[in-house]
Amino acid sequence: MHNTSHKSANIVENIGNIRQFIDKTCQKYDRTPNSVALLAVSKTRPAADIRQAYQAGQHHFGENYLQEALEKIEQLKDLDIEWHFIGSIQSNKTREIAEHFQWVHSVDRLKIAQRLSQQRPPSLPPLNICLQINISHEDSKGGMSLEQLEQSFDEIMQLPNLRVRGLMAIPAPADDFTMQREQFSNMRLTLEQLQQSHPSLDTLSMGMSNDIEAAIAEGSTLLRIGTAIFGPREAKPKNS
Ligand SMILES: *Cc1c(COP(=O)(O)O)cnc(C)c1O
Repeated sequence: MHNTSHKSANIVENIGNIRQFIDKTCQKYDRTPNSVALLAVSKTRPAADIRQAYQAGQHHFGENYLQEALEKIEQLKDLDIEWHFIGSIQSNKTREIAEHFQWVHSVDRLKIAQRLSQQRPPSLPPLNICLQINISHEDSKGGMSLEQLEQSFDEIMQLPNLRVRGLMAIPAPADDFTMQREQFSNMRLTLEQLQQSHPSLDTLSMGMSNDIEAAIAEGSTLLRIGTAIFGPREAKPKNS
């Protein structure tokens, strides 16, 4: 938290560079300008870094660890931030998530969706959610399979206090551009299929610091970027 002046200059500059890169890449792939939003992933970053990013015009922030996120939400309540929960969800954490976030990207089973809907305070608008898909079939990764999506989708769409916006994925890391595109392409096709019966779905949450271009090429509407904005992360905090 000390020495922020040097670091913050970088944050502002990084955000400017990423926005330029997004615009350029949208042109390259015939995407409508402004059809790709930027979510700044601020896990492990101090509130001061988030303030700097906010001053550079960044208003959507993503957090993975509930306790850490709640502290920052409290510290930054003077700012008009939209908070996105993007970490894995244990069912005993759903109440606080439903109370403090505007978006949840990591809904990976019916039970979690049901709890978030039940626990969303009636005074708040419906909670925006994305369903997380395990698109690379990795055992270790969160997300539902396409079969599980098919089984639970209709029921999740009925839940009253949720607004289902689309799909999210964290593909297996790949350095190869063609491989990156292929995984994102599967996500795009899956969303397009759902949109035939549910045209209100409008969100593909995909693309991180290492695969921004492939994600835009395949229709991402919401990039989740941490490292390229805030620099390399240290190990995740304890008690998260
Ligand atoms: C950490 C994280 C990101 C950001 O990753 P970077 O490589 O730092 O851009 C995006 N999405 C999720 C779900 C994350 O946990």
